[in-house]
Amino acid sequence: MIKKIGILTSGGDAPGMNAAVRAVVKTAINSGVEVYGILDGYRGILENRIIKMEKSDVAGIQSRGGTILGTVRYPEFKNAEVREATAAKLKELGIEALVCIGGDGTYMGAMRLTELGINCIGIPGTIDNDISSTDYTLGFDTAMNTIAYCIDHLRDTSSSHHRCTVVEVMGNHCGDLAMFSAVGLAAEIVVTPQHMMSVDQIIDKLNSFRGQGRKQTTVLVSEKMAEMNVVDLAAEIDKRTKYEAKWEILGRIQRGGAPSAFDRLLGATLGGYATQLLLKGKGGLAVGIHNNQLVANPIYEALKMHKEPYFNINEMLDLLNN
Ligand code: ADP
Repeated sequence: MIKKIGILTSGGDAPGMNAAVRAVVKTAINSGVEVYGILDGYRGILENRIIKMEKSDVAGIQSRGGTILGTVRYPEFKNAEVREATAAKLKELGIEALVCIGGDGTYMGAMRLTELGINCIGIPGTIDNDISSTDYTLGFDTAMNTIAYCIDHLRDTSSSHHRCTVVEVMGNHCGDLAMFSAVGLAAEIVVTPQHMMSVDQIIDKLNSFRGQGRKQTTVLVSEKMAEMNVVDLAAEIDKRTKYEAKWEILGRIQRGGAPSAFDRLLGATLGGYATQLLLKGKGGLAVGIHNNQLVANPIYEALKMHKEPYFNINEMLDLLNN
């Protein structure tokens, strides 16, 4: 029977991580197991920044954004020698297993540590929704709510001035934040790696919207798209359509804020489930929800899986915009 587990958050932070930390700490302590919080991701292990956690440490944290454990990028962990020293350090401390909350980089680290004899379970924590073994990642819903708030505000002023607003949202090569937001928030045009449009196609669409009498429009663009720079795109729209165009890059505002009720629920359920699996001696798994069920997939499979939005983006935009 396991006596001590560790928990860390790594990679980009996401609202809902704290709810997962709380669930892990409570589930472990209620099962008679000690929990150690590792500060600043994998780096905190070798630096010995590890604290024994009590239930009082996690009281009320489910409503707080960010992660109380902190997170840093620690590329040195890709080095096999650093990982071996890290596994040895955990063994020396008697920490037999870890819950690792983060994105696909964090999952890689968790998989490698499991190979070195430290069972790890990954919880998907990223606003980008770019982990395919789960329908939704922690933070995605909150980020969409933040985008909704921003788009509502931008649309007010865009309507008054008869403008086209080009908005860049996050997503890290995954178009979900842009596509889900475009459909849910009624943007006219969306451009993502999975839903590419050329500048000419965008201009043609906008001219046809203008011809139909539409006074304002919103174009959502995913970040990190070499083909599409929102500043240049807004300049082209300004030049080649009757809309005055403005651009906004929402940036890290999308990563912060109090988690939505859904992200708190997801954090609570995945945190509890991951801990139960660890206490049963399982490791090398990534937990998530799929088709309304808790699921646990081997991390190496989770990293290769592919998922599509539950709607057809072209069909939805056609239905909603014409
Ligand atoms: P995310 O987990 O959000 O994808 P990163 O890609 O920055 O964020 O990964 C988070 C951390 O996971 C890295 O700073 C590093 O410590 C660890 N990591 C990333 N890739 C690997 C890898 N290939 N092998 C081992 N550890 C990795």
